[in-house]
Amino acid sequence: LSQPEILMIGPMMQMIEDQLDAAFTVHRHWQVDDFDALVDTVAPVIRGIATSHARPVDAALIDRLPNLEVISNFGVGYDTVDAAHAGSKGILVTNTPDVLTEEVADTAFGLLLMTVRELSAAERHLRAGKWSDGAYPLTRSSLRDRTMGILGLGRIGKAIARRAEASEVGVVYCGRSQQPDVDYRYYADLVDMARDVDILMSVIPGGAATQHIINAEVIEALGPQGILINVGRGSAVDEKALISALQSGALFAAGLDVFEHEPSVPDELMALNNAVLLPHVGSASVHTRDAMGQLVVDNLTGWFASKSVLTPVAETPVS
Ligand code: NAP
Repeated sequence: LSQPEILMIGPMMQMIEDQLDAAFTVHRHWQVDDFDALVDTVAPVIRGIATSHARPVDAALIDRLPNLEVISNFGVGYDTVDAAHAGSKGILVTNTPDVLTEEVADTAFGLLLMTVRELSAAERHLRAGKWSDGAYPLTRSSLRDRTMGILGLGRIGKAIARRAEASEVGVVYCGRSQQPDVDYRYYADLVDMARDVDILMSVIPGGAATQHIINAEVIEALGPQGILINVGRGSAVDEKALISALQSGALFAAGLDVFEHEPSVPDELMALNNAVLLPHVGSASVHTRDAMGQLVVDNLTGWFASKSVLTPVAETPVS
């Protein structure tokens, strides 16, 4: 019996590749020099895609694969997949929600503490042997008496809010609409929220709708005592405006797990002492990445075994 054939936009975790190799005939684009030639050759037989974002799965690629049925995305964010276009053609897109929520919220809160209390700088002070010369300076910032404005109070945003509540940090939020079952104060306007809070926690998806939503005006409203934490997507922040505000002191500090042009991080950011920079490690534990990988596999195998998937995205609900 011939196995369904899939295109892997990767490379992916070994546990994903092993399981997909067992269930499918897998075409790996990075093993050939010419992506377009590969797609031309395999286009008629490709029924599924597994992607870890090495290349976009855009409308043009989707349109070249006439027998494509399902796209399984590694990660909850699927801004590199044109899900609306896939949906319009009856092609399913799946992602990996929930299994990473607590891990990313932990990272976000850790990054917040690192930024507010300068923990990475304090550790550098110790490792540089400077402790015996004097204590690390008192931090000018603290979580005490602070309010956090969460941009994108979704699964991860709510898990961050719980951590903030436990630390007695006030929580408000901004999104496209007010959530009826949520008690935190809602702001329809991001600038209004930025003006009222000390910490802006961004955990919204990437893509055109959120491109540079955190712009110079928002950063200015956050102000010279303000702290920006971004664990959503780098594209949501105007990085140039952020750098200039951090340089001038118009913004107090930033903690970033995501960047506009990953894995490239601007030298200007690297040079700033008031920026804490992490290499997109929000969900990056073995425990959580294994759970995400298993979902990538189970969505694909489920589809070809029984036409059912576990976690379709909103744009492509299973009918
Ligand atoms: P989610 O449950 O779908 O939450 C997303 C939230 O963003 C929703 O509350 C939504 O609120 C809001 N939102 C969406 N589009 C918006 C827009 N155009 N303007 C304003 N708000 C908007 O997703 P999640 O599971 O929490 O994940 C959120 C994002 O985190 C992912 O998309 C991904 O980009 C990022 N992420 C990063 C890492 C990392 O390693 N750093 C790991 C996992 C996820 P409304 O619908 O009310 O507007």
